[in-house]
Amino acid sequence: MSGEYPEFRLGSVLATSFTATLTERQGDSVERIPTPQRLADWLTVSGLAVDSCAPAQLERARELRESIHAAATATANGDPVPASARQVINDCSMQGRAAAILTEDGRRKWRLNSVEDALSVIAGDAIDILAGERDGRLALCASPTCRAAFFDTSQSRTRRWCEMNTCGNRQKKARFIANQRKNRNSERGQVKGSSSR
Ligand SMILES: [Zn+2]
Repeated sequence: MSGEYPEFRLGSVLATSFTATLTERQGDSVERIPTPQRLADWLTVSGLAVDSCAPAQLERARELRESIHAAATATANGDPVPASARQVINDCSMQGRAAAILTEDGRRKWRLNSVEDALSVIAGDAIDILAGERDGRLALCASPTCRAAFFDTSQSRTRRWCEMNTCGNRQKKARFIANQRKNRNSERGQVKGSSSR
């Protein structure tokens, strides 16, 4: 949508798609909704389009995002959800006046009048997965610089990365390079004086 800002990382689960608007939380973090307009863009591509977004609403959205991340991390670790995070999620859920609408062609559409309405839908989605209302398991990405919370709906519940084509591939590549280096070193040990570089 806009070349000057980081692209979105969209997943199939609304709440963790939302927490993925801040990535590499344990490394050089990337803010993917740096401006109110980018939050509005994210809401649009997530089926929650609103007319406008003010700076204070972006602040509130980020507060909800970090609360969902904290709650999901605690749940994935088997710890109780921090009271402050629960409070923000519940407040956002209650403050919105979103309505689900069934369209003529049999799809669900949200009727929203404000960012607060959109946040209430996201908070509601977070409550569903935190409370175990949906089939799946909350887990944390195995990448040490990422540690994003994701919702694992795989049959075996053994998914390790938030996304295969980012964290998963990076890990694979790192392993491949490490193996190559190891092979090269052992080759060097066998054929003295030869260099592969
Ligand atoms: Zn990850």
